[in-house]
Amino acid sequence: MDDRTAVVIGGASGIGWATARLLHDRGASVVIADIDGGAAEARAAELGSRSRAMPVDVTDENSVEALFADVTASEGAPDVVVECAGVSVPGAITDLTVEGWQATLDVCLTGAFLVMKHAGRVVRDGGSIVTIASLNGRQPAPGMAAYCAAKAGVLMLTEVAALELGARGVRVNAVSPGLVDTPLTAGVALVPGLREDYLENTPLGRAGRPEEVAEVVGFVVSDAASWMTGATIDLNGGAHTRRYPDL
Ligand code: NAD
Repeated sequence: MDDRTAVVIGGASGIGWATARLLHDRGASVVIADIDGGAAEARAAELGSRSRAMPVDVTDENSVEALFADVTASEGAPDVVVECAGVSVPGAITDLTVEGWQATLDVCLTGAFLVMKHAGRVVRDGGSIVTIASLNGRQPAPGMAAYCAAKAGVLMLTEVAALELGARGVRVNAVSPGLVDTPLTAGVALVPGLREDYLENTPLGRAGRPEEVAEVVGFVVSDAASWMTGATIDLNGGAHTRRYPDL
């Protein structure tokens, strides 16, 4: 990744932070962009050289546009963009408020669209965009209607972007993890039994680590994956081979 610029959105925590670290370790200059500007600054300082922070709110088009304008002016056209921002407001369909539904859709799906839109305009020819989707984009989980629906949308959005940007050699792929231990999954505990059920129904019998997702992102954005676009890469300990029983 020497001489490459990577923008990691949602890079201040969890999977995004592990990804920022890995790309930096491999030689990239890394812009850590996050709605938590203070945490992004601290993470960039931790990496030290070849890293800086930018605040961004992926639900706000002006903010996303400003991020990519700033990166293009400072570092030039980015080589790699990884969209890791995400939230999940849990709730069964019969209980979920429109506000909870909308908040999840705004960050996970509209956010992915806005990143794709503005990254797609400036990423260099032959560059790479990765969305972090989710097993829940393909496999329903009780109490996570908004999140499942949003992530299903992210998978299709990724394929459409691959179709549209391929003429410029830009590759667009989705990395789609199952349960990973991050601050976000503290929220899964709000759906009683879901974590235990997941682990029972997962061949490898454990949750993933953010670093295990970052390794896959690192491969997907590398030249080793030069023929891969419009793909969904599942990593979930094998959970996609099972279905959730009713809780
Ligand atoms: P996390 O909470 O550790 O990190 C998410 C980051 O996104 C945080 O730094 C947060 O500040 C940032 N963020 C939230 N809203 C934002 C906004 N509007 N604009 C910009 N940044 C914003 O969570 P994580 O588990 O590392 O999740 C990263 C991605 O991976 C998400 O898209 C999530 O849906 C997805 N994912 C997570 C899991 C899991 O089990 N942890 C599984 C599958 C997919």
